[in-house]
Amino acid sequence: MNSPAMQGLTIQAPAFVKNARLIAWVADMAALCKPARIHWCDGSEAEYNTLCEQMVASGTLKRLNPAKRPNSYLAWSDPSDVARVEDRTFICSEKQEDAGPTNNWKAPADMRATLQPLFDGCMAGRTMYVIPFSMGPLGSHIAQIGVELTDSPYVVTNMKIMTRMGKAVYDVLGVDGEYVPCVHTVGAPLAEGQADVSWPCNPTTKYIVHYPETREIWSYGSGYGGNALLGKKCLALRIASTMGRDQGWLAEHMLILGVTSPEGKKSHVAAAFPSACGKTNFAMLIPPQGLNGWTVTTIGDDIAWIKPHADGKLYAINPEAGYFGVAPGTNTLTNPNCMASLTKDVIFTNVALTDDGDVWWEGMGDAPAHAIDWQGKDWTPQLAKETGAKAAHPNARFTVAAINNPALDPAWDDPAGVPIDAFIFGGRRSTTVPLVTEARTWMEGVYMAATMGSETTAAAFGAQGVVRRDPFAMLPFTGYNMSDYFQHWLDMEHKLESLGHTLPKIFCVNWFRKGADGKFVWPGYGENMRVLKWMLDRIEGKVQGQDNLFGVSPTFEEIEWSGLDFNRAQFDSVTHIDKADWQAELALHSELFTQLAYHLPQELVATKAQIEQR
Ligand code: GDP
Ligand code: PGA
Ligand code: MN
Ligand code: MN
Repeated sequence: MNSPAMQGLTIQAPAFVKNARLIAWVADMAALCKPARIHWCDGSEAEYNTLCEQMVASGTLKRLNPAKRPNSYLAWSDPSDVARVEDRTFICSEKQEDAGPTNNWKAPADMRATLQPLFDGCMAGRTMYVIPFSMGPLGSHIAQIGVELTDSPYVVTNMKIMTRMGKAVYDVLGVDGEYVPCVHTVGAPLAEGQADVSWPCNPTTKYIVHYPETREIWSYGSGYGGNALLGKKCLALRIASTMGRDQGWLAEHMLILGVTSPEGKKSHVAAAFPSACGKTNFAMLIPPQGLNGWTVTTIGDDIAWIKPHADGKLYAINPEAGYFGVAPGTNTLTNPNCMASLTKDVIFTNVALTDDGDVWWEGMGDAPAHAIDWQGKDWTPQLAKETGAKAAHPNARFTVAAINNPALDPAWDDPAGVPIDAFIFGGRRSTTVPLVTEARTWMEGVYMAATMGSETTAAAFGAQGVVRRDPFAMLPFTGYNMSDYFQHWLDMEHKLESLGHTLPKIFCVNWFRKGADGKFVWPGYGENMRVLKWMLDRIEGKVQGQDNLFGVSPTFEEIEWSGLDFNRAQFDSVTHIDKADWQAELALHSELFTQLAYHLPQELVATKAQIEQR
């Protein structure tokens, strides 16, 4: 292998980089990937603006009309590169059983042998950017530092929004600080004189690889979202979950919100829903008419790191600094806080471009008479009617800083985190699963979360609308054996009880039950506040609920209905528990438990037996 020095490449780190291990690693990776240049990111506005300008020039970004959407850009990806690739995602632990049956696995040595020739020369003709980032408030004991090497300027600009990125991270790293090394390439080396494309990626070969024991991330071939912004799903969930297992904390696919009652009492809730199942919307909820005086504030919309504290409570932080959210379906009626967040400083990906230089997506509101769709083709409402053509890709996204959110909680970046009063788990289910159920015990709650099913969405490649088990909404994100993960959650109970604590209550929700007409029965969005209020009432013992097969559910009278026309029959249709449906559902739980038999906590098996008896 040629050393970079031999190719005339300077590794010379800027004076603000003092970490010897980092400098040596960058030199090694440059020798492997053979970029034409190295750029050490400082995270400044000037750097961000320069990269955006370069990407406008290269065709990767379009600058949106500054009168409509100041300081905002639109990227259209390659049509083959629009979502996370779960079948190309690997957990490479030494032992296969440590990755477990829900993860793709390959022995680390084998994977390294596979990746070596792919990474050799993978950045030819491109710039290698060195991105120092912190997941969690900079310098806090709870934060984790990562350094991502990438040949994608799109990744750099997105990481700048999504994480605390830049020079200050080098200061925290100091001369010998630890970081998680992350290597990313679009897998599209340029030969001498070869023209680039607007969205370079490798359409046939992709690898999203995690080595949990050595805490490394290697990503090849995709420039999109969770495949490429390695601080997010790869570090803050897959690698962090293994850190949490070893160190006694939790890394979860959860939003965190604060909710304040009219009397001024503030509670905090963390909720896990699978990708594209309502986290961002719930985290930014505006209480509806009839629930005046309630407010909801956002701490995080996708990821929570949760640690037991000496006071016996669980405290949660949001390790991110921005939102990489689903655009389609977002509008001023259902999520006004989100729309307000998107008025400026946004990178949009795979939405449509309107004739006046703004963006549009399905479910945003009135369709424009003409637009250019996410694949660069003409789009009209008429064409959509005739052919079903979508203006925006169903997994089109926005990237925006948390500080743009008008509902941002004042404690959103408090390194101490916020104390969690309740956990909510929810899937997207047209049938079977009721609007809300409260687990009677921690054990029952863990069972409900572990066996949760959800219909698949456009957030990942593959068939959509298929019910699959998605334990804790963590199926694609648990970096170790799922049964060990269940045990880790069960162990939390004993850990907290030994600190003399009452555990957060656990609830399960389903906003997505459909009627005979195929439409959602529950109005959802802001109206979900009514369900949240019932949960808080339960925590305070203000309402009794009624026992059912799996836990406790509300009576019609216990929900605050003022301001909403929702009758008893509709309520029954979203809360009804059908015996035959649940027999079929329990059969799917059995299937999951068979798959996860290795190390499966026996308490979960016992809980299932109890439900079956009932
Ligand atoms: P996330 O990926 O979990 O953050 O999900 P989002 O909050 O971005 O929502 C994903 C999709 O589900 C969007 O199209 C939303 O409009 C839709 N959605 C979110 N909340 C609700 C709800 O309460 N009811 C219904 N029917 N749809 C919802
Ligand atoms: P999500 O994450 O699918 O959980 O929203 C997006 C991504 O990682 O690409
Ligand atoms: Mn997510
Ligand atoms: Mn989201």
